[in-house]
Amino acid sequence: MKRNTSVPGFDSKEFANKFHYAGQDLGARPSRTATSFRVWAPTARSVELLLFRTGHRPETPRVVPMAPGAKGTWTATVKGDLRNRYYRYRLVHPGQAAPVEAVDPYAVATGANGERAMILDLRTTDPAGWARDVKPPFGDPVDAVVYELHVRDFTIHPSAGSRFPGTYLGVAERGTKGPGGVRTGVDHLRELGITHVHLLPVADYGGVDETKSGRSYNWGYNPENYNVPEGSYATDPCDGRVRVREFKRMVQGLHRAGLRVVLDVVYNHTYRGGDSHFHRLVPGYYHRQNAAGGFSNGSGCGNEVASDRSMVRKMMLDSLVYWATEYHVDGFRFDLMGLHDLETMRRIRRAMDRIDPSILLYGEGWTGGDSPLPADRRAMKTNVARLPRVAAFNDTIRDAIKGPVSEHHQGGFVQGAPGFEERLKTGIAASVRHPQIAYPAGDLWNGPWAKQPHHCVSYDSCHDNHALWDKLALTTKGLKNADRLAMNRLAAAIVLTSQGIAFLHAGEEMARSKKGHENTYNLPDSVNAMDWRRKEKYAGLVAYYRGLIALRKAHPAFRLKTATDIRRGLAFLNMPAPGMVGYILQSPAGGNLFAVVFNATARRRTVKLPAAGWRVLVDGRKAGVKTLRRLPGDSCAVVPSSALVLAKT
Ligand code: CA
Repeated sequence: MKRNTSVPGFDSKEFANKFHYAGQDLGARPSRTATSFRVWAPTARSVELLLFRTGHRPETPRVVPMAPGAKGTWTATVKGDLRNRYYRYRLVHPGQAAPVEAVDPYAVATGANGERAMILDLRTTDPAGWARDVKPPFGDPVDAVVYELHVRDFTIHPSAGSRFPGTYLGVAERGTKGPGGVRTGVDHLRELGITHVHLLPVADYGGVDETKSGRSYNWGYNPENYNVPEGSYATDPCDGRVRVREFKRMVQGLHRAGLRVVLDVVYNHTYRGGDSHFHRLVPGYYHRQNAAGGFSNGSGCGNEVASDRSMVRKMMLDSLVYWATEYHVDGFRFDLMGLHDLETMRRIRRAMDRIDPSILLYGEGWTGGDSPLPADRRAMKTNVARLPRVAAFNDTIRDAIKGPVSEHHQGGFVQGAPGFEERLKTGIAASVRHPQIAYPAGDLWNGPWAKQPHHCVSYDSCHDNHALWDKLALTTKGLKNADRLAMNRLAAAIVLTSQGIAFLHAGEEMARSKKGHENTYNLPDSVNAMDWRRKEKYAGLVAYYRGLIALRKAHPAFRLKTATDIRRGLAFLNMPAPGMVGYILQSPAGGNLFAVVFNATARRRTVKLPAAGWRVLVDGRKAGVKTLRRLPGDSCAVVPSSALVLAKT
């Protein structure tokens, strides 16, 4: 059957009025006796359903014509039990000589490499006990200590001792041990005390042949099928059910271990542009166009997705709701969130609140290039104050702590480089306005861009750019390991005592190295894998991170909930020298009074405190909730490259 219609411009109200399909029945809905299909393709002249017996083997499909339905959708109902069969759509577009084929954007599973969608009864994929799966308790976003992890990196190294290396099952595997008997994998995360495991993209991506396990590597920022788990992390990428079931077992296992799960989601661009499933279904609709009519490249990856168009927005909302409900996911990290429009992000927050208000939302508050989306509508860091309970990464504190990511040989505060003190202070205060900070005039990016501490993710490193340990090595030629370890401990102390949401790059607690490589998105396991031998080698550093996390979790003062509390409870101290930052901290709700002092200079410094009677909880070597020693008098000595956290008795 054919549709013949004139089509208004994709950004026009007329188009949305005529073609916005609000139904919740897009995709394939199977039963034992029949399966119904609905796909949105308003500009197609005709659409056919292609049915396959297998997920990726060559075969001649059964062809079923689809009928035009409401609002530019096409439908078909096929009798019989089609469960576990596979399908694609074939479309003819006006002015295109040859038909094109595409995978359903609402596919929930696929065969190998995501080329055919699977007709799946999702209830058959639930692991035992799934209905009783319970999220670990969690309160305010600033209570989170997030740990950013790549599924494969976590367990692929032999030292991880995993029975399921590099897979979803490996992520939640209990009882694994590494060299020296150290706990590895999820047992390590429990020991460390983090609250959220943030997984680099786990939705189906291109760039790794799923049928050739381990031959290639990718971080996963190559999105192909948004509602399908990536197949290369499943024990069988060919049977679409396996990746779904194993993903659920991973979430279930992490929840049982007391950890919440955040997914890194990449709705801002697609791996392929003109060849993407979106473009084959509705040419030009899902992506933004530049002035010349081609793909706009605000992502730096060749194209950008038009979140502000109504059916794209719906696709994003439906997809996120699906992950949050079907997979019990507890949070989302938005890649290049600056390419998403503010209205879409507000609607995402509201949709998540209807499921679970404690779902964590944060993202990269920047773009990867210029975009036709007007600057005042972008979910940028400097606009995030207009998004309640959506956070942005604080690149200001990241770069202030250990030097700008763009200048590889430039150090930051912890290496003793001058001039980072005020930027460090903005980050300590979660980038909410604070009366004691001298903000650089006219510089929104390093100014008080957060309205509340929940807007701000504090960190010193992540998967992008150099690992913290490698950055320290690059910027401190001639120094000893012991000096770098001191700087690493100082960096950790800054992140884990700062206000806002705390975020750690997996392995930084064991001086993870990516052998000096900066962009490792497609480099082999030999560079990217977490080497658990380092947990034994750097046991002191691991213990220091563990102690800092325990301190943060024990005292609400390090997790103040409002900007007002930060302005009332955090007062910066005068320091005796540049290269030092210190403050007094107390929760307005009560609890201990704390003094925090960072000395990044090469000399021991004495700092005058406003009162006497302090206990040391953190110094340059040890961190935790127990008293290490008591200080006489009202001053403290701080050794070079170290942090001091004191509590008043
Ligand atoms: Ca894939």
